[in-house]
Amino acid sequence: MKRILLLLSLLGLSGCVGHRVAEKPVTNVIDHGDYAVYTYYYPSQEQDERVRFLIFHYTAADDKESLRLLTHGSVSAHYLIPSLPKQINGKPVVLQLVPENKRAWHAGVSGWAGRNNINDTSIGIEIVNDGFHDSAAGRQWIPYHKEQTVLAARLARDIIARYQIKPQNVLAHSDIAPLRKTDPGPQFPWQEMAPQGIGAWPDAATVAKYLHGLHRWSAGNVATIQQALATYGYTIPQTGKMDPETLRVISTFQMHFRPNNITGVADMETEAIALALVEKYCSPT
Ligand SMILES: [Zn+2]
Repeated sequence: MKRILLLLSLLGLSGCVGHRVAEKPVTNVIDHGDYAVYTYYYPSQEQDERVRFLIFHYTAADDKESLRLLTHGSVSAHYLIPSLPKQINGKPVVLQLVPENKRAWHAGVSGWAGRNNINDTSIGIEIVNDGFHDSAAGRQWIPYHKEQTVLAARLARDIIARYQIKPQNVLAHSDIAPLRKTDPGPQFPWQEMAPQGIGAWPDAATVAKYLHGLHRWSAGNVATIQQALATYGYTIPQTGKMDPETLRVISTFQMHFRPNNITGVADMETEAIALALVEKYCSPT
């Protein structure tokens, strides 16, 4: 402590350095044992957040199994929203499993807009939900409880504000790993989230403009869709053809932005939504 006080007094006389840098008082001194740090003594303008992405998931398991997998399995997430969140003082409670300044292992092999290993730069929110049930009648996607999506929205708004996460970087696990993942699935209420400042959503008027008066189910241009989705951030082939990988990525995109029809067919509405998103979020400013 004596040494720190000595350093402080020396810096107080630092006019001899040539230019005054001590306009601001030292805000904090941290003693690290055999050295000390003045935090924010020379604050640089050149900095941004390490966290750039917020990723939503479903657990595809019940509460007990979700907690076991995420605390003792080979995966983890920063937050877990139970099937029916408890209330404390009238407020819904989310479980934190990993501190935000640590990496959680929720994204796996992943990519978005040229960045890979999204675990390095994201916060992950898992929601207890079974995902889907397959039967002879087809795939049934399991809805989220309202209490879960209300809590997810409150948590997301706070995280987005603290890290200044861009709307187009608030994503589904499937968006960043479309060939491996389907969560949080088409039941996740992206359209309701967007007006609350959570994630992207296209403007209806811009979608109408790109429909060019054509019926929304009429055939779109595969190459245009591939190009628009790649510009927006998806990893998608640029073949100009409807190959199996392209079908899967388009279906993933539809799960996020057109959840009532997620067949992966390259129709005009899909093309118009993709172009409207590019216009809204990817225009040079
Ligand atoms: Zn996931």
